Amino acid sequence: MTESQRPLEGQVAIVTGASRGIGRAIAETLAANGARVACIASRVENAEAAASACAALTDGARPFGVDVADTAAVKELVAEIVKDMGGLNLLVNNAGITKDQILMRMQEDDFDRVIDVNLKGTWNFVQAATRTLMKSSGRIVNISSVVGVTGNAGQVNYAASKAGVIGLTKSVAKELAGRGVTCNAIAPGFIETDMTAAIEDKAREELMAAIPLKRIGAATEIAAAVEFLVGPAGGYITGQTLVIDGGLSL
Ligand code: NAP
Repeated sequence: MTESQRPLEGQVAIVTGASRGIGRAIAETLAANGARVACIASRVENAEAAASACAALTDGARPFGVDVADTAAVKELVAEIVKDMGGLNLLVNNAGITKDQILMRMQEDDFDRVIDVNLKGTWNFVQAATRTLMKSSGRIVNISSVVGVTGNAGQVNYAASKAGVIGLTKSVAKELAGRGVTCNAIAPGFIETDMTAAIEDKAREELMAAIPLKRIGAATEIAAAVEFLVGPAGGYITGQTLVIDGGLSL
């Protein structure tokens, strides 16, 4: 892509969970479109390789570390990014975890932690960034999951957190539309990353059989949807949840 074709030139983006998987693909795609990306992971050293990869695509990428569930630390970090990177236009809330267990055996700590990282972590960044995003008529994309729409046995905590992200997305869209800010969610199905690498062969085969397109998705296929939603073509879309699951939820 040449300079003149890069639609996000001059924009600053925050991507959480940017060290690997879907977040890494999103960070690199935004950088390839010209955005200066703040690559965030749980520890700064985890985000360094992603920031270097983004810096090779466009100037100004930087790595940061924070626990997205820590409200005070997120507030401080967002203020630092806005000051040091020259504003904020795009926020992608992608950091997420699973702690799967059947309902009867799930521990309270595992319920709370998944809600804290996946749902409260999203709220932490949206709240900390809202004032700046209102000034820049910015875009927010929150990564939910297809199980936030359909539910899933063994994932009560995760599905609740991801359904919460969809409700949060719709409410933020309504609150901030008057300021020109859009807020959308993406609900991926089964995407090949560290998160899904642990799934055993038998369960993987059953899952593949249930996916009409008969293949696992790639992180770049989620990044392409983010690129669309934050780019010039996505300006009139807000409050929506885009399911990208090879037809799994049909
Ligand atoms: P992944 O490979 O496990 O990567 C998770 C990312 O989140 C890492 O960058 C990790 O940073 C970061 N992270 C986790 N906890 C954090 C915390 N407390 N504070 C800051 N960063 C934290 O995950 P993925 O598969 O790419 O998934 C990305 C998002 O898509 C998640 O929200 C996930 O729920 C969602 N999703 C994934 C799938 C799928 O099939 N893979 C399907 C539906 C939805 P560190 O490297 O520092 O640990």
